Amino acid sequence: RGGQAQKEIPFAQAGSLTKVYAIASGKGGVGKSSVTVNLAVAMADQGLKVGIVDADIYGHSIPAMLGVGDVRPTQVEDMIMPVPTRSASGAPISVISIGMLKPRRDQVVAWRGPMLDRALVQMLSDVYWGDLDALFLDLPPGTGDIAISLGQHLPNAEVVVVTTPQEAAAEVAERAGTMASMMHQRVVGVVENMSFLPCPHCGPEHRLEVFGSGGGARVATTLAGRFGYDVPVLGEIPLDLQLREGGDSGRPIVETAPESPAARELNKIAATL
Ligand code: ADP
Repeated sequence: RGGQAQKEIPFAQAGSLTKVYAIASGKGGVGKSSVTVNLAVAMADQGLKVGIVDADIYGHSIPAMLGVGDVRPTQVEDMIMPVPTRSASGAPISVISIGMLKPRRDQVVAWRGPMLDRALVQMLSDVYWGDLDALFLDLPPGTGDIAISLGQHLPNAEVVVVTTPQEAAAEVAERAGTMASMMHQRVVGVVENMSFLPCPHCGPEHRLEVFGSGGGARVATTLAGRFGYDVPVLGEIPLDLQLREGGDSGRPIVETAPESPAARELNKIAATL
C-alpha cells in the first residue's frame, strides 16, 4: 500500500474503550514476551476480549508461544484478519506479529525507522481487531524506533516495564521507562521476572537469588522519583521450568500449571492491570 493514506488507528481515537498495554524492557531475554503472553491469556480467561501485537522485531516469538507459530493471517478485502487462537478455557485471543508481515519466515527484519513505523501502524490500523477490551503490545527491548513510533501514535498506551532483579538489567529498564514517559505514556508498573528460584532441594521457602535481588524495586522507585507519581512493582515472578516449557510448547503456564507460584503471580498482575 506504499504511499497510500493510512487508515486511522482505532485505539488512538478519543472514546476508544480498548485499554492498550505496551510491554517494554531494557534488555532482551528478561521474559518480556513470556509475560505478555501469560498476561494476555490470563485476561482473556477473566472474560475480556484480548488482542496481541507482537512488535518485537528481534524476537517476534509471541505466535510460537501461543502455538500458532506456523499460521499466517488471511486478508479480506483491504483488511488483515489477525490469527485467531483460544486459551485452554476457550477464550478467544487475536494475534498479529511483525514476523507475519515478512514475505518469508526466515527473512531478517532489516528495516529502518520509516518502514518499522509503517509496519506498526499497519498492525494497528489495517488489522481487523473488532471490539477489544485490551490490546497488548510486545515491544522490542530498548529505546529504538518502534518505541518512539508507538509513543507518537498511541500516547494513551499504558507501559509495563519488565526487568530481572539484576542491576545491569534494571539500569537499562529505567531508560526504557523514561523513554515511555518522554513520549507522554504512563508507566503503570514494573514486573520483576526471574526473581528467584525456589530451591529444588530444601523446599520453596529457600529462594536462590540467581540474578541477585532488588532490580524491580529499584526501577519502580527510580521511575516514581523521576515522574512524580506512584510506579508500583506489580509482581515478582519466580524462575519456573514449566514457564519456559510452556513458552516452547505454545501452552502458557497460566493454563498448564495455574496453581504454580509463577502462574499465580501472573494472574494476580493481570487482575490488577
Ligand atoms: P524477552 O521477550 O524479554 O526476550 P522471553 O520471554 O523470550 O524474553 O524469555 C526468554 C527465555 O527465558 C525464554 O526461553 C523463556 O521461556 C524463558 N523465561 C522467561 N521467564 C522465565 C521464568 N520466569 N522462568 C523460566 N524461564 C523463563
